[in-house]
Amino acid sequence: MSFDELKQEVELLDREAMRAIRAGSHYYDAMSGLYLGFRGTDQDVRFIGAEDFTPYTGDDAGYLFSSSSVSSSAKGEVLRQFLPSGMQSLNFVGVNSCETCAIGYGNYAGNFYFDHYNSVFDNMSNLQNLMCHESYHWNYDFGQNANGYDGFPDEYNAVMAQVNDPSYQYATSLLKGYVVNLLQSLGYSLDDAKRLAGVS
Ligand SMILES: [Zn+2]
Repeated sequence: MSFDELKQEVELLDREAMRAIRAGSHYYDAMSGLYLGFRGTDQDVRFIGAEDFTPYTGDDAGYLFSSSSVSSSAKGEVLRQFLPSGMQSLNFVGVNSCETCAIGYGNYAGNFYFDHYNSVFDNMSNLQNLMCHESYHWNYDFGQNANGYDGFPDEYNAVMAQVNDPSYQYATSLLKGYVVNLLQSLGYSLDDAKRLAGVS
């Protein structure tokens, strides 16, 4: 194994380990978006300067993901780190708002547009869960061996992949509300959408 291969292997293990950790405020470098580590027991996603993170022992320093003090490119870099390997070339483009969704939309050029002020990203399980949804689109609809985007079945399948992901049970009611809205936009009644989303 070459050094580069080893380095890739270690980075992949880091990502896997990070996903397995539910508790802790997860800190990212405010400039680069690179992962610094976690503190405490909250589930926040936070940004801080690397030099300020090292001595810090609590879990409410720096800025939450949705803060206007952090650049959308650093935030996009964080989202990118949650994609499975092979999807790392995807580009996240921060936009100011998209009315009903956290992630605006993706396209065949490999750009995903996201509302970088949306507080849904402040929670680590939400972030993991949203990337699960987008990964589905990339693997089956937009990516290299994908079949093309076909509206209802693809959106429904992406939502179900997201709901069945382990991260979903730890996601907040804000995220689950988006799932209900999306299912309603696909034609489901409110009751059916709630049932499919596991919301009472
Ligand atoms: Zn979707």
